[in-house]
Amino acid sequence: MTTPAPTPAPKSMDDIMALCKRRGFVYQASEIYGGINGFWDYGPLGTLLKKNLRDAWWNDVVMFPCWGRKGPTDERVSIVPVDTCIIQNPRVWVASGHAAGFADPMRKCPGCGHFVRADHLWDILATQSEWLSSLLQEFTPITGEIDTPRLIKWARGRGKRVAPHLALVKQPEVVLSFLATRVNGQPDAPPDLQEIVRYIATAQLHATGLQDPCPRCGAPLGKPSAFKLMFESWAGVVQDDDHRVYLRPETAQGIFVQFKNVVDTTRVRAPFGIAQTGKSFRNEVTPRNFTFRSREFEQMEIEFFCHESEAMAWYAFWRDWRMEWWKSLGLAGDNLILREHEKDELAHYSKATSDIEYCFPFTSPGFGELEGVAYRGNFDLTQHQQHSGVKLDYFDTDRGELLPNGSRKGERYIPHVIEPSAGLDRGVLALLCEAYTKDDSRPSPEFMKFHPRVAPIKAAVFPLVNKDGMPEVADRLHADLSRAFGRQGLIETDAKQSIGKRYARMDEAGCPFCFTIDGETLKDQTVTLRDRDTGAQQRVGIDKVVGLVGDALSTSG
Ligand code: ATP
Repeated sequence: MTTPAPTPAPKSMDDIMALCKRRGFVYQASEIYGGINGFWDYGPLGTLLKKNLRDAWWNDVVMFPCWGRKGPTDERVSIVPVDTCIIQNPRVWVASGHAAGFADPMRKCPGCGHFVRADHLWDILATQSEWLSSLLQEFTPITGEIDTPRLIKWARGRGKRVAPHLALVKQPEVVLSFLATRVNGQPDAPPDLQEIVRYIATAQLHATGLQDPCPRCGAPLGKPSAFKLMFESWAGVVQDDDHRVYLRPETAQGIFVQFKNVVDTTRVRAPFGIAQTGKSFRNEVTPRNFTFRSREFEQMEIEFFCHESEAMAWYAFWRDWRMEWWKSLGLAGDNLILREHEKDELAHYSKATSDIEYCFPFTSPGFGELEGVAYRGNFDLTQHQQHSGVKLDYFDTDRGELLPNGSRKGERYIPHVIEPSAGLDRGVLALLCEAYTKDDSRPSPEFMKFHPRVAPIKAAVFPLVNKDGMPEVADRLHADLSRAFGRQGLIETDAKQSIGKRYARMDEAGCPFCFTIDGETLKDQTVTLRDRDTGAQQRVGIDKVVGLVGDALSTSG
């Protein structure tokens, strides 16, 4: 009989965030001034990790699109890059729909003034509300008999501190008598958790109906109203409405407004894509979950232009290849899923959309979006054509009737668009969460299993002792590795501390290869290669080291 493998303990976001701070991956922005909500800085290792992920995308999307694969029309995928401004003419955002529609439904708490995003309320209550988690401990099982004395005790004690405006805290007897009628009176249709929470928040049940509570203080929340997500500023000296500008909420629109210039000034032919990476800004109402929902973040977006008849095939191609790409960087297994949107989730112009989602510790067992792949029809180009008055159609010389001279008559159309839109910071966060591994039996109980392509430190070379000719050999190997791979990441060398401590430091930074020069090296030209993930050691010829690292770093696919 085989013993089943132990189920790994769930990863703790607090542990991951602590390691990120301690090893210089991510810092709170403006930390010495108390930070600023929704903004994060990357430290030295985090900056390299982020650069490596951006470079992997750039190489695999722009320089060597889709690893040389052919698309559904049997042609190699063609992509060109642009780099457009964060601030655009404000009319861009009118045409794109952001000026009128890019807003979240917000609810204000009349008790404590806290704002909550209406569509995230129950997520927040379930995962972040201190009073609800404390109350639930008194309420087990939630649909059983209500233990009134226990709940009154909670309301008069802990409840007063954590949810002063909750109806249960203000009038425990009244609220519990309503709740008892509902719970005890209907054994066949017991209320669900959401309903119970609403009873608890509602004092005047007969007058007001059930109400949603504030996650912070328990007061019934007000009605939703629109909260604009675009950051505003002014361009020029005069700070009035005529000079108002916006920080872009997505990089995509810069691509659409340069579509005509790219077609007119390059040799692109449909189907082709335009790609860019860059910062975007959204004044998120409730930035949370570390860098997952930030107010300043970086996107990696492709707009792929094609004829309508081929659009669904290209949509399937991009959806599948983007999924494969994330897997190639180590986000494999059950933690990564592709979720096709239901019809009622689609934007009015979209014929199909899917999200690539990762199971973050804070969404588990659920998933959070890493990248959306959307078939947007020809909505964006049509909007910009209407608003700018400039024709944004495309003349396709490969289509239309066949002429006697063998060429085609051509066809004019506004291309349809497939948009694979990925979040760089969310990608980095997923890589951090996936890599984070805890094993108390190791000298470094926490270590990072980064894929070599994204690892900030690619390799480390250690002389076992700082004498007997070992430092000189280590220096030479370090120089060889730096020449070969120094553009892709750090190559470290370190002669201080015990070898175990040096390995432990590299494990925490996620360095995949440690090479140690020892007494044997001087005799037989071999070094010890230590495997980060298992701690196993083997001897390899010093002349094989560069090739071995190179193989691990080479492009996937
Ligand atoms: P969400 O539903 O999580 O708000 P979204 O559907 O609005 O995301 P898109 O507009 O499709 O996101 O943006 C594309 C990608 O940009 C997302 O898949 C995500 O990776 C990233 N992204 C969007 N908003 C944020 C944010 N506030 N912080 C970090 N990354 C973000």
